[in-house]
Amino acid sequence: MNAKVDLPGHAQYPTLFSPLDLGHTQLRNRCIMGSMHTGLEEQPDGFERMAAFYAERAEGGVGMIITGGISPNEEGGLVLKGEDGKPLAAASKLNTEEEAAGHRIVTDAVHNAAPDCKICLQILHMGALAYNEGAVAPSPVRSRIGAFSPNELDEAGIEKQIVDHAHCAKLALQAGYDGVEIIGSAGYLLSTFLVEKTNQRTDQWGGSYENRMRFPVEVVRRVRETVGPDCIVIFRIAAMDMLQGGMSWDEIALLSKAVEAAGASMISTHFTWHESQVPTIATMVPRRAFTGVTKRVRDEVSIPVITSNRINMPDVAEAVLVDGDADLVSMARPMLADAELMKKAAEGREHEINTCIACNQACLDHTFAMKTTSCLVNPRACHETQLKWGPATVTKNIAVVGAGPAGLAYATVAAERGHAVTLYDAADEVGGQFNLAKQVPGKEEFHETLRYYRAMLEKYDVTVKLGQRVDADQLSDAGFDHVVVATGISPRVPQIPGIEHEKVVGYIDAIKGNKPIGKRVAVIGAGGIGFDVTELITHEGTSSALDINLFAQEWGVDFENHPRGGVTGVEPVINKADREVWLMQRKETPVGRGLGKTTGWTKRLLLNRRGVNMVNAVDYVRIDDDGLHVLLGGQPKTFEVDTVILCAGQEPERSLFDALEKKGLSVDLVGGAFEAVELDAKTAINQATHLAAAV
Ligand code: FAD
Ligand code: NAP
Ligand code: SF4
Repeated sequence: MNAKVDLPGHAQYPTLFSPLDLGHTQLRNRCIMGSMHTGLEEQPDGFERMAAFYAERAEGGVGMIITGGISPNEEGGLVLKGEDGKPLAAASKLNTEEEAAGHRIVTDAVHNAAPDCKICLQILHMGALAYNEGAVAPSPVRSRIGAFSPNELDEAGIEKQIVDHAHCAKLALQAGYDGVEIIGSAGYLLSTFLVEKTNQRTDQWGGSYENRMRFPVEVVRRVRETVGPDCIVIFRIAAMDMLQGGMSWDEIALLSKAVEAAGASMISTHFTWHESQVPTIATMVPRRAFTGVTKRVRDEVSIPVITSNRINMPDVAEAVLVDGDADLVSMARPMLADAELMKKAAEGREHEINTCIACNQACLDHTFAMKTTSCLVNPRACHETQLKWGPATVTKNIAVVGAGPAGLAYATVAAERGHAVTLYDAADEVGGQFNLAKQVPGKEEFHETLRYYRAMLEKYDVTVKLGQRVDADQLSDAGFDHVVVATGISPRVPQIPGIEHEKVVGYIDAIKGNKPIGKRVAVIGAGGIGFDVTELITHEGTSSALDINLFAQEWGVDFENHPRGGVTGVEPVINKADREVWLMQRKETPVGRGLGKTTGWTKRLLLNRRGVNMVNAVDYVRIDDDGLHVLLGGQPKTFEVDTVILCAGQEPERSLFDALEKKGLSVDLVGGAFEAVELDAKTAINQATHLAAAV
């Protein structure tokens, strides 16, 4: 680990680096690491791994850390069962002294790494979303995304939930936490009391808004009463829940004031419920899209207010604070991507920040698949005790061929370790397929990854040779000790009669604009690239990821008038190119099912709204002047299209590897060149980093 850092604050971000006085304690700056479930919580060595994970972030300069959600009782969380059917002890619950002792490993590690960094435990009662037959809720209303129908709480059950929250907060203090965050948003227990569709009660906990608000406010009151005045108590509120018929602005303002009066030290604004149909953190969401909503909450209360969502760089955070939208910014995924974000900002090294590109591929998609969280651009995230590197004991002269994500990751880690690295690419810029990805509207963040790698190549003195397609003879003559082949892929050309027809265009030419695309288009292949290409050719005008107003129109959000949920009665405005598109696959499964769990739905919904025709179970027959001939359910059909774009997957490009092996050179194969099927940048960077850490 790096030595401790004194963070004086960088002149460029004076507000971000200004301390915040909470009366009983002080935060060293305005940056909070937001809560994320890491998947370590359920692992046998979870506390030790979480300790290393959080300690690196504390050393990296954040002012305060909020842990992943921890349930105050069994019914509120995920219950993993052993072979005997009994619940296993897991760190994702805190209601016993024994569990509190485990958490002490985490709090000690953080406070030792940075004594002035605070850490709060998030109390997360999942309510109707608990993956648990014993799930409870105000009313037995099953969520659209819930696994179980929840059991309706009776009066005694409600009191138990309140007591359990307070008890959990008390144990958190005992475990060394500086405070707690109570989640009152996202469709979890507290928020389901607030909204009519999930709270159908007629007693003192339902009916009028005053009654529906009673439970979350009482939880805050009882927690404050239990922990005393010197403990940080944050309430996470859904400041715009993105639900049809969700909370009105007046209700949010009332709740904000009530939780302040009940003893909250801060309010943290959250947007959306998990079941809502507006993306709020995906890469297609503009940076700081929702901070204006936070400002409205801030105007209602006198306690500090935290904002979040798509704030991924220090200049964005500074601007949010200077604009007065919030008192603090919460960055969660950006702290997976780079533990040292704040340290780098403080030292004027923001060009070295490994920026979160909001892809969700290794974080949230992992969480929902019950896998350990990590990060596409930083595979060390949540693997701090396992993926480590230091100076190489024997330094080598290494050639890396291919400067796509795999080659870049390998070259920069190997060079950091002291190896002499020469990086070749046939193209005249580094990045490989990321140079195509960054041109897709909504994927502008991919530029940041390439900026980061360019900074690392320079920092670690990698010799970069662009515009050079190297072969085995050249590499062997150059006398390298080791060669790494990261030559990527070749697009697959399916064996369909007529594939040579002039109306057939490969995805590379389509993205680069090398060939004209007609008004009627068939896209063969509906994987990630087929969807991206369809996005590109159906898109019209400025990317909505770069313009909050366009984003609001496209997704039907009214930031200004804040109708219920921000979306009630607001129709999305569909901007689309004048083009008819058929997106096709051979599989019988619904088109787009294989896309990422947490982002795939946004892509499907957007293209559906643009009128893209999704066609599955296609049997391709031939392409000719009339168009694309197929069999659908055994019946012949002709799509009279002007252009057929091929997005039919990829084959590994490994001829160089074979030639080098024949020559007997020491050689490694990474990325798409190693395995093209289902190869994405997450796998490519992860594989290359592991290899480079060991060479
Ligand atoms: P590549 O990126 O293909 O790089 C290989 C490099 O090797 C190229 O630059 C090539 O010029 C060079 N090269 C080849 N042969 C030689 C030679 N003989 N001499 C010198 N240089 C050579 N993945 C995701 O995870 N998430 C996404 O959202 C995503 N979106 C994508 C969107 C698009 C439009 C595309 C096309 C891809 C996307 N991908 C995405 C896939 C991702 O980009 C690839 O998985 C990744 O780039 C593979 O990395 P790589 O380094 O193995 O190969
Ligand atoms: P892919 O996801 O494997 O999709 C390939 C598509 O081509 C499939 O729809 C497949 O469907 C079809 N296909 C395969 N062989 C074919 C053949 N012989 N004839 C006709 N169709 C064929 O690959 P990709 O779209 O090329 O993407 C490459 C990698 O980049 C993937 O790992 C992907 O995850 C990643 N990527 C990710 C994103 C993202 O946003 N996360 C975006 C872009 C790319 P059928 O076999 O059913 O026809
Ligand atoms: Fe950000 Fe993607 Fe990493 Fe998640 S996986 S932290 S979204 S870059």
